[in-house]
Amino acid sequence: MSKKIWIKNPLTILAKNSDGGIVINGTKIVELVPKGATPTLLVDEVYDAKDSVVLPGLINTHHHFYQTLTRAYPTALNKELFPWLTSLYTVWEHLDSEMIYQSTKLALSELLLSGCTTASDHHYVFSDSTKDAIDIQMNVAKELGMRVVLTRGSMSLGKKDGGLPPQSVVQDEQIILEDSIRLIKKYHQKEEGAMTQLALAPCSPFSVSTDLMIESAKLAKEYDVCLHTHLAETIDEEEFCLKKFGMRTVDYLEHTNWLHNKTWLAHGIHFNDEEIQRLGAANVGICHCPTSNMMLASGICKTLELEKAGVVIGIGVDGSASNDGSNMIQEVRMAMYLQRLKYGSSKITHQKAYEWATKGSAQVLRREDIGEIAVGKEADIAMFKLDELRFSGSHDPLAALLLCGAQKAHRVMIAGNWKVKDGEILDLDIKKLQFEHTKQAQNLYIKANSI
Ligand code: ZN
Repeated sequence: MSKKIWIKNPLTILAKNSDGGIVINGTKIVELVPKGATPTLLVDEVYDAKDSVVLPGLINTHHHFYQTLTRAYPTALNKELFPWLTSLYTVWEHLDSEMIYQSTKLALSELLLSGCTTASDHHYVFSDSTKDAIDIQMNVAKELGMRVVLTRGSMSLGKKDGGLPPQSVVQDEQIILEDSIRLIKKYHQKEEGAMTQLALAPCSPFSVSTDLMIESAKLAKEYDVCLHTHLAETIDEEEFCLKKFGMRTVDYLEHTNWLHNKTWLAHGIHFNDEEIQRLGAANVGICHCPTSNMMLASGICKTLELEKAGVVIGIGVDGSASNDGSNMIQEVRMAMYLQRLKYGSSKITHQKAYEWATKGSAQVLRREDIGEIAVGKEADIAMFKLDELRFSGSHDPLAALLLCGAQKAHRVMIAGNWKVKDGEILDLDIKKLQFEHTKQAQNLYIKANSI
């Protein structure tokens, strides 16, 4: 028998008709309690939320966990996307399975502590020592109890064939496709409340062949999984597509059978008006990565035009070499500020930014069971207290989280289970994790610099 928990009388809650709180039974939200009322259901446990801002768990739709090992990396500093990537590929080629384990654990822990309950990752660097990278990531997600949509990334177009990455980090296409099938069969849960899902994610137009794009789309259709890639992040990429394929990015997407509602794109910045209409008509998803876009000076995503056309917009922290943090609540703040710069303060409200990181992100991942506090949805909840100096003197609690720069959730629940209490992850030695992760980052640096 599952326990019924009443999260009672929150300071404020991002949900309709639930000023009296919500009731959770098992993995799901079963009742919204109006102001001043008590639950109609008999509850077993009450959590007094009078000091808490309650949000739906934040959903991160784009990341590269392994990059937490190359934060603020000396040779990658102060560069734009292509030179930044070429300075890092030769570091990342030295990743091994212990590095994947520690970096995944650190990134997921960091996300969890910032109120994130579902995370996607795009791992695309495979070598002989990282063949089982996705298996390792899946195991870490299970260990931490986080909901994940991991992607089987890939790179197959090396320098010798006109691509950007060196040959050392590209893989044979047959191997990529066979491994994709293996991973879908092993980890992709189709049912409501799925804790592990898999999508297919050729890295970008400049690092995979057209064939691999087409074959990945075929596989995704056959197994009914989503497709993910980086697209229209920079002008460099647009020029690459024109030169190499004789077409712009959206034409390329269509040419490779990716222009549909099972595709979500990271960044999606450099689209013209006609392309925006086509992406909208196809109901493509776009993950807006504001910090990364500012760090690499890539440009600003046209979120409102895209949404108006029919695109769904979510939020992602992007990899930790171009952010360089994995903090979701901070990323919501960044999205609000960067988009205000483009559209003005009255059009980009704090509610709008929250919507992108919750319901929007869920739609991007094609999930109807998460992203909202409503009856029947999974009980994924992030709670914040306004008890730090930064919040002193604030009035509207929901606005204060973003405007005053919240960094840390007080409590986090995933699928009805508390994962964070008093700002700490349950059953995790965080100091040990930090120590082991730092050690692996140093090992990677040594390996990359001793050749
Ligand atoms: Zn990325």
